[in-house]
Amino acid sequence: MSFPVATIDAAALRSNLAVVRRMAPRSRVIAVVKANGYGHGMIRVARALADADGLGVARLADAVALREAGVTQRILLLEGVFGVEQFALAAKEQCEIVVHSPEQLDALEQFAGSHRFIVWLKLNSGMNRLGFRVEDFAAAHARLQRCSSVSQIRVMTHLSSSEERGHVTATQLKVFDDLVAPLGLERSVANSAAVIGWPEAHQDWVRPGLMLYGMSPMPNQTAAEFGLRPAMTLSTQLIGVQNVGVGEPVGYNGIWRAQRPSRIGIAAIGYGDGFPRGTRNGAPVLVGGKEATIAGRVSMDMISIDITDLPQAKAGDEVVVWGEGLPAERLAPYADTTCYELVCRVTSRVPLLWK
Ligand code: PLP
Repeated sequence: MSFPVATIDAAALRSNLAVVRRMAPRSRVIAVVKANGYGHGMIRVARALADADGLGVARLADAVALREAGVTQRILLLEGVFGVEQFALAAKEQCEIVVHSPEQLDALEQFAGSHRFIVWLKLNSGMNRLGFRVEDFAAAHARLQRCSSVSQIRVMTHLSSSEERGHVTATQLKVFDDLVAPLGLERSVANSAAVIGWPEAHQDWVRPGLMLYGMSPMPNQTAAEFGLRPAMTLSTQLIGVQNVGVGEPVGYNGIWRAQRPSRIGIAAIGYGDGFPRGTRNGAPVLVGGKEATIAGRVSMDMISIDITDLPQAKAGDEVVVWGEGLPAERLAPYADTTCYELVCRVTSRVPLLWK
């Protein structure tokens, strides 16, 4: 028996893509598969999402891996490439590139290959991470227009706070639209939260990641409310049960003590698998389909669960820590993190089982 296991649901990925298309019917979709497909396995995710209009990855190595696996879809390099050699490799792999810095413009101008790139010129509309500032944007655009290695220029920006319906995003959108709308170029702004909450940001291309994996970026709305289905279910089994008396501690440093005669289920998953060590007592898990809570510190290979209220629970029972029946969004706050980080941090010893 092999556990824990991350079961990946290809049908859920496809169904979530259909949700994106329903929400942004006039936009083409770049499915973001960076960070190993948000931990789901980049290549299989790319194959499952073959109907997307393109794939977004952070780094060139991902594009190389996708091409080696035979993926022929459009690939957009979201961080762009650096130096002439990388431009040459990006050309060989037929990638579209984001250009966000003067150094990348220099390298693109020096690139002497015969390939002509589709270049996404990135505006820093207020997030202050990547992109040209408003006052530098026109000059960068002019340089691209003069560059013989460019076949087409598109424009993009990234939103810092799109899960809120506040002025930050409204301002970013205004900055972007005021500057780039007159250029008449194809545009892309929206991540998942903007696909869901900012229709005015959909424009020509949307770039969802999280929602394709069936998780909600919105603080107070579940993925199910949007018709999204979790693509990853991380599960394991109970490998033992302990009966502990009142006042007895459980696990390293005894951070949990029994308030009543208790049954503690020991499940085979720990921080060595990517289950966050900092997860607090009270975090939910499913044992045999019923909710129970973490009791005691997360170990490298095990967690302990208070199953006192589940008298039927026994060694061998399935334990789901997130996914179908228990969204990762529920666990994240107990570990002071987000569902983005939870799925990305599943370690390589956990097999990805596709269904
Ligand atoms: N576009 C860019 C530039 C990104 O960096 C990301 C992810 O961080 C996305 C799109 C997808 O974001 P999300 O997973 O929130 O949909």
